[in-house]
Amino acid sequence: MKVLVAGGAGYIGSHCVRQLIAAGHEPVVLDNLVYGHRAAVPATVRFHDADLTDASALERIFAAEKPEAVMHFAAFAYVGESVVLPLKYYRNNFAATLTLLEAMLKHGVNKFVFSSTCATYGVPEKMPITEDLPQKPINPYGQTKLDVENMLKALAPATGLSFASFRYFNAAGAAEDGSIGEDHEPESHLIPLAIGAAQGSRPALQIFGNDYPTPDGTCLRDYVHVDDLSRAHIAAFKLLETPGAQHFYNLGTGTPTSVLEVIKAVEKVSGLKVPAKFAPRRAGDPPALYADAAKAKRELNWTPKFQTIEPIVATAWRWHQAKPKGYGDRKA
Ligand code: UDP
Repeated sequence: MKVLVAGGAGYIGSHCVRQLIAAGHEPVVLDNLVYGHRAAVPATVRFHDADLTDASALERIFAAEKPEAVMHFAAFAYVGESVVLPLKYYRNNFAATLTLLEAMLKHGVNKFVFSSTCATYGVPEKMPITEDLPQKPINPYGQTKLDVENMLKALAPATGLSFASFRYFNAAGAAEDGSIGEDHEPESHLIPLAIGAAQGSRPALQIFGNDYPTPDGTCLRDYVHVDDLSRAHIAAFKLLETPGAQHFYNLGTGTPTSVLEVIKAVEKVSGLKVPAKFAPRRAGDPPALYADAAKAKRELNWTPKFQTIEPIVATAWRWHQAKPKGYGDRKA
């Protein structure tokens, strides 16, 4: 299939582009390069530097490319920033998706794969998290993703749009060949910050809270490899053949891993010490978040290849060691 990948120069999108090619599909990338990297998109893939809020740019791109499906990864994802600048998130994550859907439907494109998040659950009442738990986001980032899910639910019966919405847990790791990986600026994620602290390229890691009701007092998260996430997206295509189909899936390994266990994994893989100190809790961090991904396993035959933290960190470490100079040049 010819697939338009919105946000295909970003972390998860760029990994999915490579997997689409490997699976015999034809990706075309659209990205505004605010956070994405031009160098993360293979030279053989057609690239459009455009913003999803720009309806006339979308009109041109859909008319020229005639995609059969859209995968949508383009979003802002800084939870703290979303609390301070909610309109930035409503514009970029909600309004931009609305504009993208309008362009799709106008051009008869009815297949949509959406990046949602476990942040739509807020502080869940039980663990592991199943898809049917109430969704009560505690920040505008999670709210904008939930608002898109609700918009999709309304569109499917009204227009015949078929979609899969994937609620990611903690995306982690890098391509196994070390060619692309996680490179946010600013960086707020645990694994790249711990690796940077070990390498001496970033300050000592702050461990946000050691008094949580968890086995070692630090937060538990479900780290899932970015290539495993991508595989689920491609597996979803077969479900989108049915007009009006609606699917929601958690994507996680189901393995809870603490902040201290992540640090230990970085030390083991790198052979270096991670300089770290305990710091106060970060506002808005639930003590534990991990998935019950049985539904994705059952319906998509999706089993993550990476089940534990150490091999995931090993791919991230390889990427950070090999990271090409100039990768961060946004408009390169
Ligand atoms: N964390 C930490 N120090 C950091 C960054 C993150 O202790 O510098 C913790 C954070 O409190 C959370 C876990 O690491 O429990 C994962 O955080 P991250 O920002 O990577 O992802 P999130 O769970 O917020 O999506």
